[in-house]
Amino acid sequence: MTEYEAVIGLETHIQLNTTTKIFCSCKADSWNDLPNTNICPVCSGMPGVLPVLNLAAVEKGARLAAAMHAEIRLISYFDRKNYFYPDLPKGYQITQFDQSIGKGGYLEFPMPDGTHRRVHIHKLHLEEDAGKTRNEHGERLIDFNRCGVPLVEMVTEPDLRSAEEAAQYLVRLRQLLRWIGVSEADMEKGHLRCDANVSIREVGSQVLNPKSEIKNINSIDAVRNAIIFEIDRQIREVRAGNRIESWTLDWDDEKGTLQKMRSKETEADYRYFREPDLLPVQLTPEWVNSVIASLPELPLARRQRFIDQYQLSEYDAEILTAEKSLSDYYETAFKSYGGEPKVVSNWIMNDLMRMQKELGVYASQLKLTPAYLAEIIKLLDAGKINASTAKSLLKKVQESGSAPAEIVEREGLGLMADDSALRKIIEAVIAANPAEVQSYREGKESLIGWFLGQVMRQSGGKADPKLARSILLELLQIE
Ligand SMILES: [Zn+2]
Repeated sequence: MTEYEAVIGLETHIQLNTTTKIFCSCKADSWNDLPNTNICPVCSGMPGVLPVLNLAAVEKGARLAAAMHAEIRLISYFDRKNYFYPDLPKGYQITQFDQSIGKGGYLEFPMPDGTHRRVHIHKLHLEEDAGKTRNEHGERLIDFNRCGVPLVEMVTEPDLRSAEEAAQYLVRLRQLLRWIGVSEADMEKGHLRCDANVSIREVGSQVLNPKSEIKNINSIDAVRNAIIFEIDRQIREVRAGNRIESWTLDWDDEKGTLQKMRSKETEADYRYFREPDLLPVQLTPEWVNSVIASLPELPLARRQRFIDQYQLSEYDAEILTAEKSLSDYYETAFKSYGGEPKVVSNWIMNDLMRMQKELGVYASQLKLTPAYLAEIIKLLDAGKINASTAKSLLKKVQESGSAPAEIVEREGLGLMADDSALRKIIEAVIAANPAEVQSYREGKESLIGWFLGQVMRQSGGKADPKLARSILLELLQIE
C-alpha cells in the first residue's frame, strides 16, 4: 500500500500584552470586563475617526521578529483587509499584507527523541483583532471589547510533518513568547490561537496537494488531536479514490471531530489595499538594533548552555528553562552557592517548585531569594543544620523574609557543634539499652541506624548525624 506523509503549516495569532490597543487608548486586556464596555469610537469603527499607531505594539512585534531570527523591515506598511462579518465593525481589518514588519525567520526546536526541527516562517505581521461573536438562545451576540487588540499573525512554511511536531512547535512558541515578554500566550484565553493547514502526499513526493484548514483549536492537545484526525480522514479519502478539496474545518474539542465550515476563501477575496489613514512605519537601524540587543538569551540556547556548562541532564535543563524567571533563579542560586550545579537543581526541582506551585507565584516573586536558598544549602553542607531543618528553613525564610542564618540563631536550630555534649547523650543511650548493645556487638550491625535514631530523638533533632554516627561507632566498640 502507498505510504503517505503529512504536510502541515500553522497559522498562529498572538495577542501582544501591551497596555492599550493598537490604534486607540482603550485597555488591551478586557478579559474580566463586561461585553462592550471597553470600546471607543476608533475601535468600534465609527465614521470619521483616525487610528493612531501604538509604539509598544510595534516594539513587541519587532521583538518577536528578532527572537524568530526574522529580518525587521525598516519600512513596513499597514493595509486594509476587506471582509464583512458582524464582529468587524469597520468592514475591514487593519493588517500588514506584503510589506510587513518581519521578513523570513525560523524556530528551531528539539523533538522529544533528541532530533531537531527547523520550521521556517512564511509571514510575520502586525494587525488588529476583531470582536467576538457568541450564539446564545438562538440569538447572535457581539462583543467589541476585543476589537483593536494588537496581534501578531505568524504563518509557518509547510515544514511540519506530524501532529507531534506541530504540538512541539506550539509548546516552544508559547515558551518563547512568555520568555521575551511579548504575550501571556494563554491558549485558553485566546492569547495564542492556532489554525492548522493539513495536506498529505506520498512519501518521497515534493508536491503540495490541496490542504484543509482547521480552525478553532484552542489547546496544544486539541492541535495534536485535530491534526491526527484530519490526516486519517485524508488518507482514507485518497485510498477510496476521492480527491481532497480545500475545506475549512471546525474542530469540536468535546466530540473530538472535525466539521466542514465552508470551502476555503483565497487571498484575492479580501481586496487588500494600503491603509490610507496610517503612515508607513519607519524604523531607524539604531532603534532596531536596540530591540535586538535587548533580547535575553533565548530559552533553547539557555537549555543547551545549562547542559554544556553545568553538566545538567536534558531533563533537568528542560525543567529549569521552562520559564525565564525560574531559570534566572537557578543560575543566581548556583553562582551564590558555588558547589555542584546538580545540588541546586535538585533543591529547586524538589522543593522550590512545589512552594512556587502552592503559592502560585513566579520564582522571582519569592521571599526565599536565590541567595537565601544557596545559604541554606551551604549551612547544610557545613554540618551546621540537618536536612530536616534545611527543609523547614525554606518555609520559614519564605514566611518571614529573614536570612536563614538569622533564623537558625534565633530559634536555636543549629546542630550540636559541641562534641562533648553529644558524647554525653550517646553514652546515656548506650547505657540505657544494654540488650541492643549486646546484639550489636554480637554482629547485628544494622542496629546502628536504630541507635542513631535514639540519639537524634534525645538531642531533639540537633545532633549532627555524621558526627553522631562516628561517636556511636567508636563507643559501641568499647566493651
Ligand atoms: Zn478604542
